[in-house]
Amino acid sequence: MKKLVVDLGHGGHDPGAVGKGGTKESEVVLKIGKYLESMLKEVDLDVRFTRMSDKYVSLGDRVEFANNFGADYFLSIHINSASDSSVRGVEVWQYNNDDKNLNEFCSSLCNEISGIFNIRNRGMKLSKSLYVLKNTSMKAALLEVDFISNSFCEKDLNNENNLKAVARVIKDNVLKLYNIKTSEPILYKVCIGAYMDKSNAISCMNTAKSKGFSDAYIIF
Ligand SMILES: [Zn+2]
Repeated sequence: MKKLVVDLGHGGHDPGAVGKGGTKESEVVLKIGKYLESMLKEVDLDVRFTRMSDKYVSLGDRVEFANNFGADYFLSIHINSASDSSVRGVEVWQYNNDDKNLNEFCSSLCNEISGIFNIRNRGMKLSKSLYVLKNTSMKAALLEVDFISNSFCEKDLNNENNLKAVARVIKDNVLKLYNIKTSEPILYKVCIGAYMDKSNAISCMNTAKSKGFSDAYIIF
C-alpha cells in the first residue's frame, strides 16, 4: 500500500505563529489534520500523522518518523506569518521541483486554497534550508495556508467550515497525487431544514430523532 506522512507543524510549548486575537498556528493545523484524517480513513492509502494532539514533536523526530516509515510523500502543514499585517496568500514549498506529480499537487493546492479564502496565490517556492524538506528521504512539500498575522485571515481560520474546506482540498489532491480513484456511493439525502444558528439545527435534528428518524444528522 502507498504511504503518506502528514506533518502538522508545531504543537505543545511551540504554538508556531500566533494571531493578534490569540489564534495559534499549532491549533489550526491540528484541526485541519483531524478533518483530513477522517476524510482519508476510507481511502486505500497508509497515512500517518506526525502528531494528532497538541504535543511538541521535534523537527528531527518528524523527519526520522517519515524516513523510518518509508513514506512515498511527506506533506507538512503550516500557517504563515509576516510583520506586514496586510499580507495574505497561500504558498507551497519544495526542496526541488523535479517530481512532476508533486509539482501539480503543489500548484493545485495553491490554486484551490486561494479560491477558498479569496486570497493571493503566491505559488510554489523552493527552499534548500527548510529542515523537514531538506532531511526527509522522500519527496516533500510544505504548505503555508495563509498569514495568521492578518486579522481577516485569523477570522477565517476560526471558521470550521473553512478548515474543513482546506482539508477537503488536501484530500482531493492527495488522491490525484497517488492516482487513487474513489467510488463514493451516491446517497439520496432528505433535507428538512437549514439554519444559520447551530443550536436550531441541533434542535431540529433532535426533533427528527424523537419522531423515529434515528439516523438524522447535521450536514454543514
Ligand atoms: Zn509553522
